[in-house]
Amino acid sequence: MPVQPFISMYFIDTHAHIYLPEFDDDRAAALQRAQEANVKISILPAIDSSTHDTMLNVEATYENCYAMIGLHPCSVNQDYEKELNIIEKHLKQRKFIAIGEIGLDFYWDKTFTELQYQAFHKQIEVAIQNDLPIVIHSRNAIDECIDVVKEHPRVTGVFHCFSGNEEQARKIIDLGFMLGIGGVVTFKNAGLDKVIEKIGLTNVILETDAPYLAPVPYRGKRNEPAYIKLVAEKLSALSNLSMEEIAELTTENAKKLFKLR
Ligand SMILES: [Zn+2]
Repeated sequence: MPVQPFISMYFIDTHAHIYLPEFDDDRAAALQRAQEANVKISILPAIDSSTHDTMLNVEATYENCYAMIGLHPCSVNQDYEKELNIIEKHLKQRKFIAIGEIGLDFYWDKTFTELQYQAFHKQIEVAIQNDLPIVIHSRNAIDECIDVVKEHPRVTGVFHCFSGNEEQARKIIDLGFMLGIGGVVTFKNAGLDKVIEKIGLTNVILETDAPYLAPVPYRGKRNEPAYIKLVAEKLSALSNLSMEEIAELTTENAKKLFKLR
């Protein structure tokens, strides 16, 4: 009989903005709750230079937090190159876990569409030069982001907060990218549960996007890393895999992508 491999079950929240003011009153307690829910690692996505310092302070203060660096598409404007210079400066000083979050967002504002494309392409090049994965934010722009990624065959990463259809999921998997799955999979009528049932979990990593997009039954409230458990429970129900197997699979995927050892 084969020896049962030792499974040290834990989860990684691959996308948590725990440095934002929503956590100023109880950040330590929220991270404690995460540990108790076996969410051992939180990965912090950057937004822009207005929050770099608080993000890096949180990373330095708490164990098992790892910061990315990057310019969020909603922070792209005519001054975006200044922001990219700040990012390059940070990258010369220390290591980051990924370039993110970067991408395209056509939901809120289309004023800077062209500049969003420029900033996205340039940051992918920065990621390749620094041998880092990218974390993609794509709102109303999944197909456009897929097209951009196709132009950079050397880059790897994740489509964070994936909520597209089966065809888009398959294209992303074919590119060797991960799908970041969070609270949306628990939302009724989002349809993501059906997509997951079809494509399986081979390229899935878990995320909360805290403080946003809390899973059911906390939908509409503040999200936090401990709620990864609710996302995992939903995936367990959809896939007939145990919680241990979900943890092992998604944590291995995340460790591989972010080179965590
Ligand atoms: Zn985010």
